[in-house]
Amino acid sequence: MELLVDTWKAARSMFKGLGVTIREFFSPPVTVQYPDQRPRISPLFRGHPVLLSDEQGKLKCTACMACARACPVNAISIESARGEDRKMYPKVWNLNMGRCLQCNLCVEACPFDALGMATRFEVAADSPEGLVYDLPSLAELGRTHPYSRVMVGQKLGEPAVAGQAAKGGEGN
Ligand code: SF4
Ligand code: SF4
Repeated sequence: MELLVDTWKAARSMFKGLGVTIREFFSPPVTVQYPDQRPRISPLFRGHPVLLSDEQGKLKCTACMACARACPVNAISIESARGEDRKMYPKVWNLNMGRCLQCNLCVEACPFDALGMATRFEVAADSPEGLVYDLPSLAELGRTHPYSRVMVGQKLGEPAVAGQAAKGGEGN
């Protein structure tokens, strides 16, 4: 009798497992054939920190250094200067993507809405120096890639800023 019960249990679990396999076999795939197929990127995806410009195309950054201080891995280095209008501006604004954790802390720290996290995710270089992005390249990425600005304490589903790049742009 015990043998019969064990055999029944084994057969039942085998058919249960087979059922899962058959169901998944006919389900639509959740993976994509990257890089031939491009993955769908959420508008709130936190990819590559980028510098944002205003509607006139002027960088919003005032070189206040708040982002550099907030960065836990010292990925940001800034040199400030004073313009003819006596306002501060960033003479140098470098981001080392070899260090960046894509944690969003710099975006949250910026009091001038001058940073966003672009949807860009393919960051590769053949040397460590190649992963350091300077001001012109970060400004260009900010103008050409969609970006998000998600703030601390923001709950899932609450509206966050998802900006569209001035010239439009998709993914990478
Ligand atoms: S995303 Fe995080 S790690 Fe990257 S630069 Fe900003 S603060 Fe630093
Ligand atoms: S916190 Fe914002 S305004 Fe200040 S240096 Fe960083 S990007 Fe520029």
